[in-house]
Amino acid sequence: MRRFAPLAFLIVFAALISFGADEQLIQGFTRDSSAAERQREATFRSLISADNQREYMQRLSARPHHVGSEYDHANAEWILSKFKEWGWDAHIETFNVLFPTPKERVLEMIEPTKFVAKLQEPVVPDDPTSNQQSDQLPSYNAYSSDGDVTAPLVFVNYGLPKDYEELDRLGISVKGAIVIVKYGHSWRGIKPKVAGEHGAVGCLIYSEPGDDGYSLDYVFPKGPMRPIDGVQRGSVMDFPSTSPGDPLTPGIGATADAKRLALKDVTNLTKIPTLPISYGDAEPLLAALTGPMAPQGWRGNLPIPYHVGPGSAKVHLKVAFNWDIKPLYDVVARISGSEHSDEWVIRGNHHDAWVNGAEDPVSGQVALLEEARSMGELVKQGWRPKRTIIYCAWDGEEPALLGSTEWVEAHDSELKEHAVAYINSDGNGRGFLGMAGSHTLEHFMNGVARDIQDPETKLTVLNRLQLDTISEAKNDDDRKEARDRGDLRMEPLGSGSDYTAFIDHLGVASIDLGYGGEDDNGIYHSIYDDFYWYTHFSDTNFVYGRALSQTAGTGVMQLADADLLPFEFTDLADTIYMYVKELKKLADDARDEAVERNKEIDEGLFAAVNDPRRPKIAPLREVVPPHLSFAPLDNAADALTLSAQHYQAALNKNGIAGISPTVLQSLNHRLIQSERQLTNPDGLLRRPWYKHMIYAPGVYAGYEAKTIPGVREAIEQKHWDEANSEIVRAAAVLQNESSLIDAASAELEQAAH
Ligand SMILES: [Zn+2]
Repeated sequence: MRRFAPLAFLIVFAALISFGADEQLIQGFTRDSSAAERQREATFRSLISADNQREYMQRLSARPHHVGSEYDHANAEWILSKFKEWGWDAHIETFNVLFPTPKERVLEMIEPTKFVAKLQEPVVPDDPTSNQQSDQLPSYNAYSSDGDVTAPLVFVNYGLPKDYEELDRLGISVKGAIVIVKYGHSWRGIKPKVAGEHGAVGCLIYSEPGDDGYSLDYVFPKGPMRPIDGVQRGSVMDFPSTSPGDPLTPGIGATADAKRLALKDVTNLTKIPTLPISYGDAEPLLAALTGPMAPQGWRGNLPIPYHVGPGSAKVHLKVAFNWDIKPLYDVVARISGSEHSDEWVIRGNHHDAWVNGAEDPVSGQVALLEEARSMGELVKQGWRPKRTIIYCAWDGEEPALLGSTEWVEAHDSELKEHAVAYINSDGNGRGFLGMAGSHTLEHFMNGVARDIQDPETKLTVLNRLQLDTISEAKNDDDRKEARDRGDLRMEPLGSGSDYTAFIDHLGVASIDLGYGGEDDNGIYHSIYDDFYWYTHFSDTNFVYGRALSQTAGTGVMQLADADLLPFEFTDLADTIYMYVKELKKLADDARDEAVERNKEIDEGLFAAVNDPRRPKIAPLREVVPPHLSFAPLDNAADALTLSAQHYQAALNKNGIAGISPTVLQSLNHRLIQSERQLTNPDGLLRRPWYKHMIYAPGVYAGYEAKTIPGVREAIEQKHWDEANSEIVRAAAVLQNESSLIDAASAELEQAAH
């Protein structure tokens, strides 16, 4: 079990009794340094105040603070003044980026009946900031192209590639049509991308009440869910298949004198005009659709029959934007390391919002600030971290991860050399610890989570997460794994927050943290994500804000003070085995499905089951995929496992107490490069900005990670030759990782002699 001695016990007795079992040692510390570290971390956690977080939130979310707004700049200056007040060496780093805002938005139905969409979120009398209309960005999708189209309407479910296959079978084409699509099940930018690829000329994305409206709970202000006129703003830039950041300066920092592309040469805007709408505005449009009934799983909870269309419904959509360059204000603060100032532990959360943004991002930002205040307090009491700690409050995350990406691109070579790890958050809520990230840090994060107390159950947050994982498990194997595997698994990182440039572009080991799972929320990216909503419906007393500070701050301190950096490779190797197994199954399933489909066509199955009154078109014959050559990946996974076990054995056998500082430093320099080894300088095919060969956001998923993406997406997209060559490229980075680990093991063993 994962129980750990209660904290108070440790603080009192750590110095008095010597622990026989090594489980009391923090990974990467000696017996002495571990005891001191535990004491310091306990002090840090006791300094974190929930009330302070409430105060910071009230200040930061008091007015709308999107990129380019007055209050965005004022918040950055305020955050800067706080870091300075708390003793940090802080400054603002400015970039200049393309940030479109709406100039014109028109959505109307002209046939069979006339309807003009409101496109406006009304003031809610109980909610004191919902009336700040002069400062609010209207509801829109950033980086939609300009456009003015009139066309029939077609409902396309969530707008995923498989939804269009279903439409094909219904005999419905979206060519020349405007599609109406539900939010969810993919990152929103994928929806206009796929619609455009299928020939649509416009895209409306609506919030379905079955997903975040009245079907889940009362709507705001009586409850937390999306009211009838609530709209989800958000970016639709096609960054998963190009790159995030400023579209005018791909791959380089958007500094004042950077060389910029002309707007006409930008490649990552949507191909078709796109607009987000409320379910109030969507209902008359959907109700006007005729044609076949939508498949069962597509139907939502509006009180209408859901037809696919097109029928006689004809819609006029016009959007035009101000294509302005706006300043970004990244606040960057540091505490210089006492021994290894050239090794950087980085922590970040964005400060910009779509509107007031109490939940997204301020609930995460206030946790970060409280960590900074408490670490400043420790410094005043005499602590100096061994490594340099850098805290970042990013601007411009919402439009396209702008602030973090530009900073990473501007400091590319320094970061490749110096960055130990990056810890991200992006909002917070009540419930279970969410931890995702690099599997070289999975063991480390499990250790951190074992030291944090859950505010509701008083269990450790790790134990609570473990029990939740068991309760959510789908089968015996998953339950057994959650009980018996040494560490709880971390999900891989896809995209959708500021870790993207760190891990995907540079190969800096990254972790994303946040609590959640207990509260539903229907205010995401609307004017109602504000202090009133957060303090009525989310972590109302900020105890999970305190837990987030304690979790992330403990992680930062451990990374900054460890004698030997706590990278661990057996979890990585185990995870790679799992991914390779998944890839083989994916390829086998594709083959089985093609064989089965062709057999059904030969049997005349589709004609036999067809209902002539609701006709469906039979699918086409498929080419049966060839067998792939997985041997290079199998061999690389085996090699990685041996190397990882060898390193662990060398560590377990000799410990680190007797190793000289020079050797430790050399080992640490190797370990810092361990995530970099998983990148390839040429990057992924067709999207070279993405260098990591193990994790990437899916080209047709966006938020969701595709692991071993070169191979996985080649299989999913049926590029069979490419799958074979990508197997070789993925295997190569794993072999490089093994070599690095072997060199570290050799150094450890030599130091022991
Ligand atoms: Zn956010």
